[in-house]
Amino acid sequence: MAGIYIHIPFCRQACSYCNFHFSTNQSYRHRMIEAILKEIKLESENLLSATIDSIYFGGGTPSIIEPDYIAKLIEQIAKSIRLSDSAEITLEVNPEDVSRANAGKWILAGVNRLSIGIQSFSDDTLKFMNRAHDAGMAVKALDNIFSSGFENVSADLIYGTPGTTLKAWEVDLEKLLKFPLKHLSAYALTVEPKTLLENKIRKKQIQSPPEELIVDSFDLLVKKTEAEGYEHYEISNFAKVGFRAVHNSSYWAGIPYRGFGPSAHSFTGYSRRWNIQNNFSYMKEVENAGCWYKEEELSEQDQFNEYIMTRLRIKEGIDLYDLNERFDSRRIDQLLSGSRKFEKRGFIECKQNRLKLTESGKLYADGIASELFQL
Ligand code: SF4
Repeated sequence: MAGIYIHIPFCRQACSYCNFHFSTNQSYRHRMIEAILKEIKLESENLLSATIDSIYFGGGTPSIIEPDYIAKLIEQIAKSIRLSDSAEITLEVNPEDVSRANAGKWILAGVNRLSIGIQSFSDDTLKFMNRAHDAGMAVKALDNIFSSGFENVSADLIYGTPGTTLKAWEVDLEKLLKFPLKHLSAYALTVEPKTLLENKIRKKQIQSPPEELIVDSFDLLVKKTEAEGYEHYEISNFAKVGFRAVHNSSYWAGIPYRGFGPSAHSFTGYSRRWNIQNNFSYMKEVENAGCWYKEEELSEQDQFNEYIMTRLRIKEGIDLYDLNERFDSRRIDQLLSGSRKFEKRGFIECKQNRLKLTESGKLYADGIASELFQL
């Protein structure tokens, strides 16, 4: 098994674009942490034989809970499963939570990598996103992180927010790249169903950003990060040498992982399982040692489609030799014939027995992958 994911389902406020699972009512967070600890204990028999290379605290906003809870969760995982000596332990943090005191406690708890949600350095854009921080807090948080001794630090930015410009994106990138980050994740703002953003676009109160701005922002991102020595190793992810995200890389490599907490997903290679996406039902089922998850076996076709979707995202692309070892040759013939139209448009290239997205194809990865899926 590659890693453990822990979902902390609380946030201060709802960002306008977000459809992740979280609650802004944090009054029962102690009960929630106890439930997640119990879920790990209940599963420990199935976990003991594995060694893991990563723990990832995501959410929600994991930095919102007391650092002692993070320490307790890491302790429980270490009792239930073997952690490799160099295991990457990542905590997602939001700027408003990053004090020097908290950063010190996270280090003591065992966290060795932070992923901070900056999103933008423009106060107007942060307001539009309904983030809980402003630009000043973002800069202060980065200063606190580096002066506390964290070295392996990643930051998230978002581009293509309605009303922004290419110049504003350039300013955001330049400000962020002045910090000694080892990793950067940058995403085009997507309009997810049932979000405030989608509601406003539907009511024509705001307009989606023009595609041209997204394409130009992505080009600028690729150029600037390359100039600063980052490797573009996944569509939205850039790393200094030796600092690719261990946890996420194992998702893209199709290595099994186990998720704990409400809405967390797990993957064995042959089956997928997902926890109840309701905080109270999840806690009740775990407290009563009932059933807090659903599970499905993946058909050979599902496994093939999963393989295509994940491998197409990474720099190395799809290894056709490996694909041939795992799947029926008819599937590979069908994949190659389906990919030809994307090769003609310059979105895919096939070199040294690897099928990869080109730089211009990367922006359309999801659409291309879904057209290559087999039914
Ligand atoms: S802080 Fe993160 S998880 Fe919470 S609402 Fe905002 S984007 Fe979503």
